[in-house]
Amino acid sequence: MLRRPSQGELPPLDADAALVEELVAANRILFHQGVVDGFGHVSVRHDKHRDRFLLARSMAPALVTSADIMAFALDGEPILPEGRAVYVERFIHSEIYRARPDVHAVIHSHSPSVIPFGVVKRVPLRAIYHMAGFLRASTPIFEIRSAAGPASDMLIRDRKLGAALARALGAGPVVLMRGHGSTAAAGNLRQAVFRAVYTEVNARLQMEAMRLGRVTYLNDEEAANATATNSRQVDRAWELWKMVACGADGALAGNPRG
Ligand code: MN
Repeated sequence: MLRRPSQGELPPLDADAALVEELVAANRILFHQGVVDGFGHVSVRHDKHRDRFLLARSMAPALVTSADIMAFALDGEPILPEGRAVYVERFIHSEIYRARPDVHAVIHSHSPSVIPFGVVKRVPLRAIYHMAGFLRASTPIFEIRSAAGPASDMLIRDRKLGAALARALGAGPVVLMRGHGSTAAAGNLRQAVFRAVYTEVNARLQMEAMRLGRVTYLNDEEAANATATNSRQVDRAWELWKMVACGADGALAGNPRG
């Protein structure tokens, strides 16, 4: 049973204020880049407590401020609920952090161009150009019927489903969710945002290329080398996207509560 900490215990977030601000920026960037709309969410592993992560309360990502960020345990429950509504699908995040010690950021979205690749199993989503070199030769698809039976509402609404999704993700960067969306994971927040954005762009380009004819995809070596190069350029994209989403001064509304 969760309880309100008494005096002397850790404050609710106990997180680096700069990390909280990065998470707020990520929320806004993902909206401006067309990855999330009113739905979808982004989290980051806690900088001081590896068994916690930071995630907004249940709300549209573009409206998130630092005051909306909450800390969660790896059972998916908030450290300090404060009576606030939380995302039904927070177990996506908790179970991936539990299964993947290398993962420090998770993004779940319903970004539209990716959806077709989750429902047509014979056409895997894969890297069509260098910006998406992080995609594997075949992006796995999570089939919720295998874990929840034939009559779910498609949502990852408990730990069991979150664990099944994490198994489908495996050691990879992205998992598609049939008839629902996708989830991206990475070693840091900026890289997760980069992956979520370029997964959406790659899906759109792959669909267009397939209408023209047989596609030549990146091979494994090209994909690996492009990923190594891009990993040194993530900040360049981040700074631009942040300026677009948050303004030139980077000012974000809300009360700091690091
Ligand atoms: Mn969802």
